[in-house]
Amino acid sequence: MQAITDLKPLLQTPKNIVITTHPKPDGDAMGSSLGLYHYLLLKGHNVHVITPTDYPFFLHWLPGNGEVLVYTEKQAEAEKLIADADFIFCLDFNGLRRINGMGDVIGASLAQKVMIDHHLEPEGFDNFRLWNAAACATAELVYDFMVQMGDKHLLNKQIASCLYCGIMTDSGSFRFNSVTSHVHKVVADLIEAGADNSRIHELVYDTYSENRTRFLGYCLKDKLQVFPEFRTALIALTQQDLAKYEVTSGDTEGIVNYALSINNIKFAVIIIDRAEIVKLSLRSKGEFPANEVAKKYFEGGGHHNAAGGQSNLSLEATVEKFISILPEYKELLNV
Ligand code: 5GP
Ligand code: MN
Repeated sequence: MQAITDLKPLLQTPKNIVITTHPKPDGDAMGSSLGLYHYLLLKGHNVHVITPTDYPFFLHWLPGNGEVLVYTEKQAEAEKLIADADFIFCLDFNGLRRINGMGDVIGASLAQKVMIDHHLEPEGFDNFRLWNAAACATAELVYDFMVQMGDKHLLNKQIASCLYCGIMTDSGSFRFNSVTSHVHKVVADLIEAGADNSRIHELVYDTYSENRTRFLGYCLKDKLQVFPEFRTALIALTQQDLAKYEVTSGDTEGIVNYALSINNIKFAVIIIDRAEIVKLSLRSKGEFPANEVAKKYFEGGGHHNAAGGQSNLSLEATVEKFISILPEYKELLNV
């Protein structure tokens, strides 16, 4: 493993660079990837962003969106770029297993791998690493990377807008306890460099379809289950629920936070039947470790207060399994 600063001399001449991130990329995955993309383009490299899957409409305004290659849509082209790459930057994830089929292709590539990430327990496939589990977003680390490369002066409106989006979305609009004074200083720099903060917030959070808003109402009124003795709230969605409201990629994001926003609730989960697999998104307040539950019972992981996982059982059986494990955590949930 080499220090990230050892990259500086290696990036002095133009290189073929691929940037990739996790499946179903969120605001931080796309913001950090495209922020790094614009920076490396400025440095004269040949750069491509490849995502394992598509991503939500509310991120399509990001500068550079039109240049992103979605692996599942352009597999041959993506595989050629990966094969020809000198460097592959892996952002906002830290295990090749997490990126489905694309993981094997990246693993087989002779390119040097650079990991920039803030999730726990890196797998160790990388040659260079900028990793900090205390960082509130990978976008914060991309900013730190530019500083460490001596290129803070290259921060421009495009880079700043992308990184702002990443930090804003991963920090719950600057309210999580991962938000340090450093984060606010970074964000101040981003705004100074041209990030239009209130416009970016509007583009991400105030662009829902009417269906999405009614779907949220349905989830909260008809689908929310509360278990007061375990200070836990749960929303389970069937394939029919998704079809009825024409729910598209990203429409379910953030709904779990409404369940967590109830007074005295410490732990919230949304469990969604995605046909091929049942996905869980877990959120917690304070000390309760959402990622431990994800890891122990649902083949997942993530952060202390925001984690995810999956299940091969039916939706009903997954919900039953989730409810059945709550007594194990009763004490921890009631501290
Ligand atoms: P979300 O609930 O928004 O999909 O994910 C919350 C957090 O958990 C993210 O940091 C994400 O990287 C992590 N996460 C989500 N799903 C999985 C999973 O299946 N495995 C692992 N290891 N982490 C996940
Ligand atoms: Mn992130």
